Amino acid sequence: MDKVIFKKASYDYDVLKPIVFNMMESIGKDLITKQARVLIKPNLLSPARPDKAVLTHPHVVKAVAEYVLYKGARPQISDSPATGPFKRIIREGGFEKAFKGIDVDFKTFKKSVKVDSGEPFGSIDIARSAVETDILINLAKLKTHSQMLLTLGVKNMFGCIIGFQKPEWHLRTGVDREMFARLLVQIYNAVKPSITIVDGILAMVGQGPGKSGTPRYLGLLIGGRNAFAVDRLICSLLGMDPDRLLTNKVAKELGLCSNEIYANGDFNIVDNFRFPELGSLLYGPKPFQRIMRKHIIQKPVVDNLLCELCGECWQYCPAKAITDNRKTIDFDYDKCIRCYCCIEICPHGALHAKETLPGRLLRRFSV
Ligand code: SF4
Ligand code: SF4
Repeated sequence: MDKVIFKKASYDYDVLKPIVFNMMESIGKDLITKQARVLIKPNLLSPARPDKAVLTHPHVVKAVAEYVLYKGARPQISDSPATGPFKRIIREGGFEKAFKGIDVDFKTFKKSVKVDSGEPFGSIDIARSAVETDILINLAKLKTHSQMLLTLGVKNMFGCIIGFQKPEWHLRTGVDREMFARLLVQIYNAVKPSITIVDGILAMVGQGPGKSGTPRYLGLLIGGRNAFAVDRLICSLLGMDPDRLLTNKVAKELGLCSNEIYANGDFNIVDNFRFPELGSLLYGPKPFQRIMRKHIIQKPVVDNLLCELCGECWQYCPAKAITDNRKTIDFDYDKCIRCYCCIEICPHGALHAKETLPGRLLRRFSV
C-alpha cells in the first residue's frame, strides 16, 4: 500500500524546516544512511524568481538538503535546465542566497550513461549522477503544463535527460502525447527516485509550466516513496480524474502503479484549479493529419512586445521551426510539431498557444 502525505506549509523557513524533516522521516526514516551519496533533483527549468512559481522553491530544497546533512550524508543538487546558464538559475532562483553558509554542491548534469528503459525506447542516455547515486530525491513543482496538462513528480525526472537531448525526444515522440507520457514513465522507472516531494505551496495554474503560467497559492507539500502514487492523489486533490494525466494512465496500464494508495494528512479538494487549454494534437485520417495539424491545432505565437529576441526558442525548437528575422521571430507551421517546448522555455513569457479559426469552429460545432 502506498502512502501519500499532504501537509499544510509555507515558505517561512522556521515553519517549513520541521515540516520537511517530519515528512522525510515519515516517508523513509532509515533510507538515508551516513556517508550515502544523495542526489537532490529539483525543478530548475530556467532562470525565474521564486514568486513566479516556475522552480521548486529554494527553501524546500534547502530544508531537504539540511535533512540529508543531519543524517550524516552529503547532498548534491543537480538538474539539466531547459534554458539559461545554471549559475544564473541558482542566483535568480534564490538558491545562492538561501544556501549561504551551507556546504552543498550545485552541479548541472554533464555526463550521461545508457540505461535500458525497456520497449519501445530501449537504451536512453540519462544523467550519470542520477543513475549512480545511492539515493535520489525528486523535488518537483506542482504546475500546469500546456502540452501534458500537469507537471508533477514523474515528469520532473525528464530533467535527467541532458540538454538538447530533451527536444530530440520531443521530436521522436512527435505529436503523440501518450507516447511522450510513456517515455516519461519509463525514464522515471529507470532512475527510480527513493523519495518524491512536490512543492505545491505556490503552485502554477493556466498556461504553465514556464513564465506564461500564473502562480496560485495552495500552501501544500505533498510527498511519498512512489511518484506514481503521489501524482495520482494530487490529481484527485485538484478535482480531476487521475487517468486524465497521461503519465498516470500509462503507469497504470504498464502495471507500475499500486491500486492501494491512501492520503495521509491535510487532503482537502482544491476548488477551481485552472488547467491549461489543451488542443488535440492529431486530427483526421492519417493522410490529412499534417495539413489538419497546420490549420486546426493550437499554434505557438509570439507577443512582440515581450519578445527580446534572446534566441532561446529557436535554439531549442526540436523541429527547427523558428527563425529570427532580426525584428521578430517567424514560425514555420509546416515543420512545427506542436510540442510547445518554446512556450515552456521562453524566459520572457513572450509565447503562448493560440487557437486557429478553423480549430475554434470545429470545436464549437463538435460539442
Ligand atoms: S520568443 Fe522568447 S525565447 Fe524566443 S526569442 Fe523571443 S524572448 Fe527569446
Ligand atoms: S515551434 Fe515551438 S511548438 Fe513548434 S516544434 Fe518548435 S518548439 Fe515545438
